[in-house]
Amino acid sequence: MTTRRDFLVSAGAGLGAAALGGTLPSALAGAPAIHTNPAAGPVVIASANGLEAVRHALATLQAGGDTLEAVIEGVNIVELDPADMSVGYGGLPNDEGVVQLDSSVMHGPSRGAGAVAALEGVKTPSRVAVAVMRYTDHVLLVGEGAQRFARQMGFEILDTLLTPEARERWLRWKASISDRDDWLEPDETGLGESEFLRELVPDARRVESRMGMLDSADGVRPWGTINCCAVDANGDLSGVTTTSGLAWKIPGRVGDSPIIGAGLYVDNDVGAAGSTGRGEAVIKTCGSHTVVELMRQGSSPTDACLEALRRIARWTEAQPRLRRDDGRPAFNVNYYAVNKRGEFGAAALYPSRFAVATPSGAEVRDSAAVFQG
Ligand code: ASP
Repeated sequence: MTTRRDFLVSAGAGLGAAALGGTLPSALAGAPAIHTNPAAGPVVIASANGLEAVRHALATLQAGGDTLEAVIEGVNIVELDPADMSVGYGGLPNDEGVVQLDSSVMHGPSRGAGAVAALEGVKTPSRVAVAVMRYTDHVLLVGEGAQRFARQMGFEILDTLLTPEARERWLRWKASISDRDDWLEPDETGLGESEFLRELVPDARRVESRMGMLDSADGVRPWGTINCCAVDANGDLSGVTTTSGLAWKIPGRVGDSPIIGAGLYVDNDVGAAGSTGRGEAVIKTCGSHTVVELMRQGSSPTDACLEALRRIARWTEAQPRLRRDDGRPAFNVNYYAVNKRGEFGAAALYPSRFAVATPSGAEVRDSAAVFQG
């Protein structure tokens, strides 16, 4: 078994100065290198907005449920929650004010995979992804085709998933992005910001919404997603990732969440991994697949996540517009991983958190981090 010391040594060995543009990471944010499941029972891991999801999924597993059904039921709680503006119903829209959702699922024992991208009008895209996996010979359906398929499968199609609160945020963004476009800023209309919003979105609740914001390290746009992976007592694995994606994106933009190997990967012989954060960086480095392959080669889940993140840092060296003044990435990415033995871990470029449920309880813990800040 790898000790914490061994882990730090091997993690350090992988951190060539070149790989980080000359900036060595300060530490691993104090999170333990290997999280084990003392009860050797099922384990469910998720992004930090998934505490309820992991709790629910674990209970489903303990009642003898299948790993995929467990994680889907778990993320449905978040998808259906209008106060979570990063996922499903209530998610933040694209730059035209339309909510487009991405999701993928993988079922380890049957080697199944399904996904939908840029899907409009369905509150639970993860369930449509399951239907793609179960009832078609395809893996990924997008846009209008995905919506027609969902209708055929009996899903309710809503005209819009935009809640008043999400529309309010979109309008505020629209009014403020430029003083040279045709959208007037509140002041130019003769109204203050709050009066402007009250007039345009009278039905928005004036409460602080639960944003589920995991990563907005670039300080520009909110991101958010839920990833949830599970292993049961037999070592069978499944995972799901679901999101409304990057807020204000160009219509039709697809992130990492519905891309098998990017936002999610499950190999029933090895483990499962998923991601949240800047999807473009994850897609280009085949993120979740990389994490699972590293676990196959013997890395602990945390170590595998950290190595996949270092690749992202390395790739960002060639993209000045994505780097901060100190040369580090101007965004965050999180990976979450669990292996067949029930060991789990999570890491991010910058300090972050994750949710986990084992038979000893459910909690939010600190992820390891490549950079402290
Ligand atoms: N990864 C998602 C995307 O790029 C967003 C997120 O995780 O916040 O679409």
